[in-house]
Amino acid sequence: MEHSGNCTNQGPSPTARRVDPYNADIRWFFTSLRRDVERAWLSCSDTDTMAGDVWSVGLVGLGANASRPWTPASDAMIDFGVVGLFWLRQVVKGWARDTRPYLQDLRQALVAVRVASASLIGAGREDPAGLGAGDFTRVLDALSRHRRVDGSLYSAGHRRLMVYRFCEVIDHGREAGLMASVGEFFRPLRRRHHVEVDPNEDEVGKALPEALIAHLDDHIDLLGGGGRSGWMTGDDVVGMHQAIYRIIRDTGRRPGEVVSLKLGCVEVIHGVHNLVYDNNKAARLRRRLPVTTETASVVLAWQDRRAGLHLPPSASKWLFPSPQQRAHQSIGHIGVTAFQRAFRTWVGRIPVIESELLGPDGRPLPFDRALIFPYALRHSYAQRHADAGVTIDVLADLMDHTSVQTTRGYYSVSLKRKVAAIAKVGSLAVDACGRPAPFADATAYERASVSVPFGNCTEASNVRAGGGHCPIRFQCAGCGFYRPDPSYLPALESHVASLRADLETARAIGAAAYVLSNLTAEIDAFSKVAAKMHSRLKALPPEERTEVEEASRLLRRARAARRIPLVADPPDAPG
Ligand code: SF4
Repeated sequence: MEHSGNCTNQGPSPTARRVDPYNADIRWFFTSLRRDVERAWLSCSDTDTMAGDVWSVGLVGLGANASRPWTPASDAMIDFGVVGLFWLRQVVKGWARDTRPYLQDLRQALVAVRVASASLIGAGREDPAGLGAGDFTRVLDALSRHRRVDGSLYSAGHRRLMVYRFCEVIDHGREAGLMASVGEFFRPLRRRHHVEVDPNEDEVGKALPEALIAHLDDHIDLLGGGGRSGWMTGDDVVGMHQAIYRIIRDTGRRPGEVVSLKLGCVEVIHGVHNLVYDNNKAARLRRRLPVTTETASVVLAWQDRRAGLHLPPSASKWLFPSPQQRAHQSIGHIGVTAFQRAFRTWVGRIPVIESELLGPDGRPLPFDRALIFPYALRHSYAQRHADAGVTIDVLADLMDHTSVQTTRGYYSVSLKRKVAAIAKVGSLAVDACGRPAPFADATAYERASVSVPFGNCTEASNVRAGGGHCPIRFQCAGCGFYRPDPSYLPALESHVASLRADLETARAIGAAAYVLSNLTAEIDAFSKVAAKMHSRLKALPPEERTEVEEASRLLRRARAARRIPLVADPPDAPG
């Protein structure tokens, strides 16, 4: 259509330039349209979108994840080529084809199967017909010890999930007849496989030092500078990310609880500001946390700024609206992942981050940046309050935990409390036969022994090596240097359970008699030690027993956190 006459349009007004809420919608519409047309074309031409080892997720039509079933997955590719063993690749593809999992579940299964494949190839077990129960256990072990590229252990939750996904794929493979060529005992023998986890290993030692938080604050201008995003300007995004960081830092709420704050989330009750938030993890809504005036003013300042933004209806109730148009009201706020990404980028931009430890040249060593993530600020909040002497029940309330046990996992143990705990527990140490073998004091406990998986070890060369050089391959149950105490009871019992499972497996695969008798003897020895310790604990007056149990928990937490021992230098070998 042709225009006539004079045009007085001088281009978009500054406001119109700043907010263009339709662009994202239009882009999304055309992307979906293109994908639908491609999918229709492929189905008319009888093309199997699941053939081959590389699948286009958008074309195979898998959902993005369980919480967003209405959102189709995007342009990502799934590459089954990472699974080295051909037969295992076919089994996981068959599982994906038959069960049509969410994209997230498929990625998890692919990781699990890749680890399994690598462990079998590494052990020279590439022939599927020769696989048995022992190989399945080997795979489960590899998944239970799954580590990141930097060598750190994945969380117990992640490792359990990997084991679960692998068993799910194999169970399906068996039922669907995809594993006819694979040895029949290569399958899950139990409903649930145990992943060994040190108590609190996921929780302890994550608090960031206050000096480091102050350092982050000094560089807050570097947070969130990623430029324009959706309908928000770069400045708006910066303001939003900085407000989210300050609120997590000051309130110790989970990142998910902060990004999902609603408008009007600050209330004044009896002259005190309270933050109203939803504890979605425990499904406890509209919780109230007293906050300082400064924290309240961070919320209110952002709320004022947000009032000037032109928002789509789906974002209208959220304090931190998503810069991208969302299809569903319940996720109209910015996502945790988006904030975590911005946080990680920020930490990477800070030129120098020093730790409190000094290097050999007397200068501070660099702080491991991988340990700086938003959730660590929740741990710092707990540690700050614990250091200030806030009692555990009050702190549990502030953290919104129903159990003080959970709260205990959020802060570390002071040296003084550790010494007191050792005094309680060390006096109840036994030897490998369950006979009393107490440590004289805390220094003897730390100086003359080292923690090995199921108790203390007093063998001098192993103590000097920090526990990593047992001369007889950790056969502690039959070793004269073994000195467990009640703080090792959970680890001992869990080990006995694993040994029993191994014994079952060994019987199922017809292992040699000496294997069965070794396992049986080890189970008997460890069970005897555990029973002796239980009976000694039972004999204590209830009050003392509670103290020992509390001290044991403390020591387990200190061990899990791998705190610096009481004795800085390893002692010399006895002459
Ligand atoms: S087997 Fe003996 S020497 Fe080895 S770690 Fe256990 S207690 Fe120490």
